Amino acid sequence: MHKPEISIVVPIHNEQEVIESLYERLTKVMDSLARPYEVILVNDGSTDNSATLLNDLVKRRPKEFRIIHFNGNYGQHMAIMAGFENMRGEVAIMLDADMQTPPEEIPKLMAAIDEGHDVVNSFRLNRQDHLWRKFVSKAHNIIRKKITPARIKMEDEGSMLRAYRRNIVKQMTATGEKSTFITALAMIYAVNPTEIGVKHEERSLGTSSYSLYKLIRYNFDMLTNFSLVPLQMFTLLGIGVSAFSILFVIYLFIRRLIVGPEAEGVFTLFAIAFFIMGLILLGLGIIGEYVGRIYQESQKRPRFVIQKIVEAE
Ligand code: UDP
Ligand code: MG
Repeated sequence: MHKPEISIVVPIHNEQEVIESLYERLTKVMDSLARPYEVILVNDGSTDNSATLLNDLVKRRPKEFRIIHFNGNYGQHMAIMAGFENMRGEVAIMLDADMQTPPEEIPKLMAAIDEGHDVVNSFRLNRQDHLWRKFVSKAHNIIRKKITPARIKMEDEGSMLRAYRRNIVKQMTATGEKSTFITALAMIYAVNPTEIGVKHEERSLGTSSYSLYKLIRYNFDMLTNFSLVPLQMFTLLGIGVSAFSILFVIYLFIRRLIVGPEAEGVFTLFAIAFFIMGLILLGLGIIGEYVGRIYQESQKRPRFVIQKIVEAE
């Protein structure tokens, strides 16, 4: 049996426009590296023609290409996890299908692996994305650096072109988490991580699968998955508001004794009440994020279902 050294894992969701150029550019780079490799493409419930195009690649390159088909859409991170679970190589490299971080950078990642790093992170040089995307990402990175443990320190958690040694990947897949953030999870197990700058290009073909809503959801996922700070901040806020209201009650009591009964300031009262109600709702929402996740993890359902694996006999 073909024993690959490098396993490339690519999640695919409705990428019919890019599959051909992905195939060409990826095989070109990997052939020139001259190290045995496999490419695991994970079809994450595509509804376009991706499945057929993917299966066709196995016929063209039976030695290298394997396709995992999910029975539905489980998200980019679960698709990568499925690829990781099935990898045969010693080093895993993940890559986005749209090649915004180009496969031509893979030799750089491998050079870092050869130097002895077990996790090779990347950050995007000259990021080519919409302004609002960059803004969301900047804001997210600032918050993340503040509230996640120092272990998970990296420049850019959204850059998906990365390399991991097999032992790191095995520990990651062993968690069985249903919602996770691969790039952060890897850092929990990293012993000798490094970070390199990679080119970033505009998505030239196809469209992004991420709507603003999905993007915001992902950001929440990442923060609540790797930090309890949102909950703890709420406790602190609650303590602060309570302390303040005790002082306020004392003040009002003394005022009642000196000035007598008053009925003005109803609107101020409303404003304060609405503000506090808003905070309470926000707090409930944050608790809900965690409770929902606990609920999901407590259900004994699979985190993804593989419908079939297409590979050479
Ligand atoms: N992807 C996936 N499942 C999804 C959404 C995206 O497997 O539900 C894949 C997609 O095919 C691509 C990668 O994840 O390979 C990144 O997605 P995309 O380029 O659409 O996101 P963006 O670059 O805009 O963050
Ligand atoms: Mg992209």
